[in-house]
Amino acid sequence: MIELENISKTYPAKKQTITAVDDVSLSVKEGEIYGIVGYSGAGKSTLLRCINLLESPTSGSIEVDGTDLLSLKPKELRKSRQSMGMIFQGFHLALGKTVLENIAFALKASRVEKKERRKRALELLELVGLEDKASSYPAELSGGQKQRVSIARALANKPKVLLCDEATSALDPNTTQSILALLKKINQELGLTIVLITHEMEAVKEICDRCAVMEDGRIIERGSTYALFSSPQEELTKRFIRTVIDFRIPERLMEETEGTLVKLTFKKDLAKKSIVSDLLQQYEVSGNILHGKIDYIKERPLGTFIMELTGDPKEVAGAIRYLEGKLGEVEVIQHDRTTRSTVAGAE
Ligand code: ADP
Repeated sequence: MIELENISKTYPAKKQTITAVDDVSLSVKEGEIYGIVGYSGAGKSTLLRCINLLESPTSGSIEVDGTDLLSLKPKELRKSRQSMGMIFQGFHLALGKTVLENIAFALKASRVEKKERRKRALELLELVGLEDKASSYPAELSGGQKQRVSIARALANKPKVLLCDEATSALDPNTTQSILALLKKINQELGLTIVLITHEMEAVKEICDRCAVMEDGRIIERGSTYALFSSPQEELTKRFIRTVIDFRIPERLMEETEGTLVKLTFKKDLAKKSIVSDLLQQYEVSGNILHGKIDYIKERPLGTFIMELTGDPKEVAGAIRYLEGKLGEVEVIQHDRTTRSTVAGAE
């Protein structure tokens, strides 16, 4: 649906050129929700704005729904842009217009008749759950309600793509959840393709099918959201994931443990299997769980446990091999005390 190839965007500046996006290629499939995460200044917003040509790239090509956007004449581009709605962190609503007028206004540009505009605006308000706010002004609404209005407005021209620029970043956690649920609903009910940029991993975890991590204008890691959460490769990705799944345990507790500390990741249906109890039956080790959590990544379970294994070193090594065989990978985050003192003594 969206094909970006070798997109770069530079801005001339006094001392040196700023490279906001640096040779990024990205493919978003029809009907999926794609997240782009990164810290402020990573180039997310510039990349997103290249998709509807609010920013024209310095180089590269952009294809949306089979159309090469850079080859379009201004009039054709305006039409093509109507197939892409956009919402922003700051809502961008017209303050002097009512909720209904804000939505209807988007239809005026595409020459829909006045009566039809009102009807369609009311339908959209119903879709976003704000049918009772038609004659309110933006100032009378909460942040979440304002974002609902801007979603309704973005959907006015029946777009195929919705671009979301930090859409939940100004909202409290509860409101964020309700807006994410709404985005998921319109993705499913209308088959809308959604690209969202955010610095909040929670949003990605909740609704994105796939995602990319951006740093210094480049995509440094990408994949299915589940794969990224269950086996992140890059340090920055790990840092983002720790903001929602924090499996670190306090230093003091680490110091006090005697045995080998392992981090176990149970992917998908492995969380339901009795791997740990089988392990304790087969090996002469004791297992003490120091931390455990099951998260749901777009409704699929991902379990993370930190376990202390104690016993004869051979048994512990055998237990770790058993776990590796079952789980794919096991991270030893701290060796048992005897090994640790040997290592310390050798230094
Ligand atoms: P993000 O959305 O990840 O915060 P942006 O795309 O807004 O990142 O910005 C990426 C980089 O490009 C930043 O260094 C920013 O200062 C720079 N930049 C963005 N827009 C402009 C502009 N219009 N003129 C000059 N520099 C810009």
